[in-house]
Amino acid sequence: MIQVAINGYGTIGKRVADAVSAQPDMEVLGVAKTRPNFEAETAVEKGYPLYAAIEDRLDQFDEAGIEVAGTVDELVEAADIVVDACPSGIGADNKAMYEEYDTPALFQGGEDADVGEVSFNARANYDEAGDADYVRVVSCNTTGLSRLVAPLEEAYGIEKVRATLVRRGGDPGQTGRGPINDILPNPVTLPSHHGPDVNTIFPDLNIDTLGMKVPATLMHTHSINVELESRPDAAEVRELLESQSRTFVVPDHMDIDGAGKLKEYAMDRGRPRADIWENCIWGASITMEDNDLYLFQAIHQESDVVPENVDAIRAVLGTKSAEESVETTNDAMGMGL
Ligand code: NAD
Repeated sequence: MIQVAINGYGTIGKRVADAVSAQPDMEVLGVAKTRPNFEAETAVEKGYPLYAAIEDRLDQFDEAGIEVAGTVDELVEAADIVVDACPSGIGADNKAMYEEYDTPALFQGGEDADVGEVSFNARANYDEAGDADYVRVVSCNTTGLSRLVAPLEEAYGIEKVRATLVRRGGDPGQTGRGPINDILPNPVTLPSHHGPDVNTIFPDLNIDTLGMKVPATLMHTHSINVELESRPDAAEVRELLESQSRTFVVPDHMDIDGAGKLKEYAMDRGRPRADIWENCIWGASITMEDNDLYLFQAIHQESDVVPENVDAIRAVLGTKSAEESVETTNDAMGMGL
């Protein structure tokens, strides 16, 4: 069993912990937290050994009556691999600790690309992580774009991608984020960081991205135009996207008109935390005009990177092929809507 440490148990870390513990070939060795908050309580309830990320704060856990198994460096030393899910920038600071204990580590998309030897998306470049000890699992938006680009590039070739990313202002728990009554070009300059980030996975791809932020918390929505090298019809493209294991092409009859109903559907399907791990592509939006493909997709920012982290663990440790890993992850999590 692969012993996985999770350092940073917030939005991404707690989801990765649950996904890891569902896998047949890995277990959660422990999770590290800075504070004894509600997430620390639930980690203990779930049976994840809890480690203090900051030694000086051990007494805070004591005062809250939360039992701690040790400090984060003990956890890192004992683990086969660490998933760092700390806030942006802290992962890079933690890298020296992982190097000190010679423990391979995954970082998240909020880190600069150079934190890892490879930026990772299971559908696009699983094998590249095989020779790396430090790998960055790209952000939610880059994951969503990569899952779309990979099959289109393979099937039809791509001249250029133009994507406008309408991004949620914050996650539901991020009560201090905004905007609360505005629609922001964000950044107002082009390209947004997403295009260059997609190029960390597809170095030769010609892509322009524009970013916006809106007062929403549920999901991001991408308006996509892909100029293809060949001219499939829309039905063919739809079939291709339906055949991918981490895309959900929203059937027209479902009457799902936005992120609210997608989340409602995820709740009806009994998804943990109403998570939607798949790209949600509106089938009715898939349109071809000459060589130009157009579509809308929604991305659940809190969860689409979770299966990618699970696959990156196996990719770095070399325990399964891409196909075997994706299948194992998908089966264990219950992928597919
Ligand atoms: P978060 O704030 O929800 O969780 C981070 C957790 O790390 C918090 O519990 C925080 O207390 C803890 N922490 C802070 N300093 C720490 C330290 N030194 N050691 C251990 N734990 C520490 O953040 P998040 O949304 O889970 O984001 C984590 C990473 O994932 C970031 O790089 C982010 O860019 C990336 N990411 C976030 C999203 C998203 O939408 N939330 C999506 C994809 C990728």
